[in-house]
Amino acid sequence: MDSTSIEKACRFCPRCGKETDAEDQGCVPFRCKRCGFANFFGPVAAVGGLVTNEQGELLLVRRAREPGKGKWGLPGGFVDRDETIERALSREVLEETNLCVSEATYLTSFPNLYEYAGAVSPVIDLFYLCRVADQTVIRLADGELDGFLWVKPTQQHLSRMAFPSNRRAIEKWLDFV
Ligand SMILES: [Zn+2]
Repeated sequence: MDSTSIEKACRFCPRCGKETDAEDQGCVPFRCKRCGFANFFGPVAAVGGLVTNEQGELLLVRRAREPGKGKWGLPGGFVDRDETIERALSREVLEETNLCVSEATYLTSFPNLYEYAGAVSPVIDLFYLCRVADQTVIRLADGELDGFLWVKPTQQHLSRMAFPSNRRAIEKWLDFV
């Protein structure tokens, strides 16, 4: 099946089941003409950590699965329901790398798109500069990540990033350091 935006994938009202008129398909927000149900489609919030060590090197992690399999990324992920951004950041960094965030400072945000099972959803990525308590305890999440580097990122790394938003966050960080 071809990939499509989340709003185009919603051809039927999830509450009453009415099929959307052709001219209304893909509209944001989705509004059902029969029952009035509305869906605003996000964006979903996600966090990314720019984790640095004592030498000022940045942690890049290699993705073991799609999207972006084999490419570099920053540790991070989606914010859960009823969770703060800060809590999501600590949780995701811990889950993916076993590193404990001791200090986090907001850096920037960029819109992103996330494709899953052929549907593309809008995401807002929030990036934080992170210090960790002990970098030597790093242990990658099995099946999710299969490599890591502590580096001063070069053009070569930047051209192999899984998500443009991660790349832009690193470029912004490089402007400061
Ligand atoms: Zn409806």
